[in-house]
Amino acid sequence: MKDLYLRPRKLGGRIDRGNHWSKRPFFLYAAIAIVCAAATAFAAPHIFRLPVTVSLNGQTISVPYGTTFMEAARDHMDTGDLYGRLLAVDDSTIDEQGGAPPDFLVRDRSRNPESAIRRSLDIAVVRGVDKVEDTVTEEVEVTPELIRTGSGPFRHVTVSGRVGLTERTLGELSGIELSTRQLVEPRPVEIELSRVPQSSEASSYIALTFDDGPHPEFTPALLDVLREENARATFFLLGVQVEQHPDLVRRIVEEGHQIANHSYSHRDHRELSFEEQREDFLKAQDLIEEASGIRPTWVRPPYGMATASTYSLYGQEDMMVAHWSIDPVDWRRPGTEVIRTRVVERAYPGAVVLLHDAGGNRNQTVAATRGIIRDLREKDYSFLTVEQLYEHSATLRR
Ligand code: ZN
Repeated sequence: MKDLYLRPRKLGGRIDRGNHWSKRPFFLYAAIAIVCAAATAFAAPHIFRLPVTVSLNGQTISVPYGTTFMEAARDHMDTGDLYGRLLAVDDSTIDEQGGAPPDFLVRDRSRNPESAIRRSLDIAVVRGVDKVEDTVTEEVEVTPELIRTGSGPFRHVTVSGRVGLTERTLGELSGIELSTRQLVEPRPVEIELSRVPQSSEASSYIALTFDDGPHPEFTPALLDVLREENARATFFLLGVQVEQHPDLVRRIVEEGHQIANHSYSHRDHRELSFEEQREDFLKAQDLIEEASGIRPTWVRPPYGMATASTYSLYGQEDMMVAHWSIDPVDWRRPGTEVIRTRVVERAYPGAVVLLHDAGGNRNQTVAATRGIIRDLREKDYSFLTVEQLYEHSATLRR
């Protein structure tokens, strides 16, 4: 009981020591005033958005309240000291400021460049690192060398050679070549051009060729003329036309003419990859064979344009290539008589004449063909297919 009694007294003693609180109002107000002053001092810049003094790499500057680290740096530093450069694969500069943005350090800690500065800070600005552009790798065909000998409309591929393949690594943005690596070494393609040798023979042979068909209107009309005039010709067929008119291919063959390949789509082979040329060529071969049962052994590339790659393909496929020796430019429709005269006046033994039975209105060509045959017959010409003319020329050479 005694102990229990004593406890309040002890408490009372403490209260006694607290008797100084009799001066409470003065100290309390002073403390409140100090806290308020400190708070005001601390809050004032924020409340009134007062400019902030900062150090940027040791340079003391004043920036508007809330300026971002990046804005402060842009306003007070050289941009060259901020951003890294974007470099090409050869170390040339693509963009002076295309590299990484700067890093902002406050007491060695990285700060978000877009965060706002609201108080005085000692900021270290570290220039961004340089970036090197990405690279891309591509495989590029290498057209082999083309070695040609002789002259004339017949082209025989004696060495098929090989299309090369190179792997190139280049800068994605600059296109600057970083390195190349040969995957397949190109090998030269050799072709032998020839013509019918001039001879003292009494008979003169000539070959009429018709490109781009078969056409549903002009090819039958032309076949009628050839039948009536008893002349043979060669048709360089376009796969896309064969696909639509296989019956005409059969009629051409049945009437004793030669059929040959003129590609599937008539795209310029110089603009196609080896594989694209191959696909285009083989598609036409297959369609012609499907329609007629005959797989052509002669080809004429679209526009007569072939690269060493084209010849390499033809060599691999064992094709003979037919160019021409007389081109009356019938497809421009210069008039029936003009076409007829151009061919007849330029004709010579062993010539290969280029005409068209499709690809536009060919009524002038059809009409001119009858006159061409009659005029040349009068000059003792006979009409052979391209293949027959080539075989005839081979006989003469022996
Ligand atoms: Zn053509």
